[in-house]
Amino acid sequence: MGVSVCLEGLTQYNSRKYVRIQSVTWGCLKGFVYLTFAVSVCCIVMIFRLHQEEDEVDSSVRTSVKGVTFTNNRIWDTAEYTIPMQATNSFFVMTNIIKTENQLKRSCPEYPFVKAICFSDNNCKNGSADIHSNGIQTGRCVVYNATFKTCEVNAWCPVQYMGEPPEPAVLRSSEDFTVLIKNNIQFPKFNYTILNIPTIFNTSCTYNKTIFPLCPIFRLGDIVQEAKQKFSEMGVKGGIIAIKINWDCNLDSWFYDCSPKYGFQRLDDKKIMPGFHFRYAKYYKLPQGEEQRTLYKVYGIRFDVIVFGTVASAIEVVLSIVRYSSCGKSAFCKIYNRKKYETVLNPRQVMYVSYVDEPHVTLIKEPLKTSLQHAQGSIVESHPVKFCDAGGCCTSESNEHCDNEESEPMRSTESNKNDDNEDYELRQPLRQEASSPGSPKWCCCGKCLPTQKYHEQLCCRRKKGQCITTSHWFQQLVLSSRTLKKALLYKDPFLDLTDGNIKNQMRRLAFRQYIHWRFGSFDLEDRAVIPSCCRWKIRNTYPKAGNNYTGFKVE
Ligand code: ZN
Ligand code: ZN
Repeated sequence: MGVSVCLEGLTQYNSRKYVRIQSVTWGCLKGFVYLTFAVSVCCIVMIFRLHQEEDEVDSSVRTSVKGVTFTNNRIWDTAEYTIPMQATNSFFVMTNIIKTENQLKRSCPEYPFVKAICFSDNNCKNGSADIHSNGIQTGRCVVYNATFKTCEVNAWCPVQYMGEPPEPAVLRSSEDFTVLIKNNIQFPKFNYTILNIPTIFNTSCTYNKTIFPLCPIFRLGDIVQEAKQKFSEMGVKGGIIAIKINWDCNLDSWFYDCSPKYGFQRLDDKKIMPGFHFRYAKYYKLPQGEEQRTLYKVYGIRFDVIVFGTVASAIEVVLSIVRYSSCGKSAFCKIYNRKKYETVLNPRQVMYVSYVDEPHVTLIKEPLKTSLQHAQGSIVESHPVKFCDAGGCCTSESNEHCDNEESEPMRSTESNKNDDNEDYELRQPLRQEASSPGSPKWCCCGKCLPTQKYHEQLCCRRKKGQCITTSHWFQQLVLSSRTLKKALLYKDPFLDLTDGNIKNQMRRLAFRQYIHWRFGSFDLEDRAVIPSCCRWKIRNTYPKAGNNYTGFKVE
């Protein structure tokens, strides 16, 4: 027992099914709740700027530095103090310089750093070189100046001065140089491109955080100051400064704003090994063919332009929501929705009808504007009619129904065929009585009775043919007093079948039997409509005293 229960559990899967009720009141209430929810979400999104997303920006940066200065008896122009950088989005401005002119390949005393100082040849070793060396030692100890003797080296001589850079910085006036930064950006997700230079702008402007925050021309001294540094200090050994361009854009037309905000920050550590420098040389050939060079050790500020962006678009957010929710339009979702939701009208506004010549139950909405027979309806898919399952109340004897009663003599007065294939029987062309003169226009079976009420104007058939009341199974399942009595006794074993009221009980049971037979489910019992011919057949078989029938109530 336990095992079978367990197996049953394993071979079953429960899924949810939602019933969709069509009701104006509930629909409006639902709409109101959804609207409130949507408005709240929008408010939260706007307040906390959740609709913004950090979009990856595609950016290109071009810079041009301008300025000329005269110092150390020479003119310094852009070509000399700006040196192209390997790194992209960077530019370098020289601020200080150590120049060693006229170097030739010779043997000369090393610069007197600690390891190079010597007292005799024994301190020097032929062929050796220190990491700081300017050349290869010859093994001799020679006089560097009045104070020091150093090991002699084969090198570019005279060797470069290796002390501190000059202070104040040689090119300290470069703080007055300016740089024009051109920054194109694109937000790929939004396919939106913009340049940091306003369409109308004064070319002689200089960036100022408060006065000209959008001017793309920057004075180097101001940049360093904004980064909370002193140009005179920083210029000596150089350094690295980040120019941050932050695009904070809202692309919605009514809130449109897309302009850069500039920020500045020193990147190299001021305390641990500050500065930025490198060496380069310019080479010449002497008339005799010998090579000579001028070595520069240059100090300066490297400016790194860093671009990032945030983009917001409520429209985009809405569009993406629509995109997600437009799922409902796809074929898959239609199928999914049809499978997941069963559309049920407000129970008070519908009726179900079943025709013997149609394989499905039809749902018809109230109010009726014509006879129920001609009302437009929609198909209800499932129609689990089972012949042997006649009446949940007498399930236990349903087998007996099918197996034994077949052989019993027909009680039908009109059917001359002992054929249990009811469908076959019922779809035969009408070969008995033609429509009786009294049968109304909407009747197709010729057995219905006229009535003024639209909701009672229903036939057992859609097309002309034999009436269901003439079928074997109508006799057996609905009308048979034997079946009805069995069912009543099944429910109440000690029911007095001789009671005068028994006909009323049998009539009501016959109606139920018909519904269960033709509609397959007791769920529809309340709103299932019994065709006129069937109703009258049942009423005539089990008449009520006074013939005062309530019939089908329309609420
Ligand atoms: Zn009819
Ligand atoms: Zn009929």
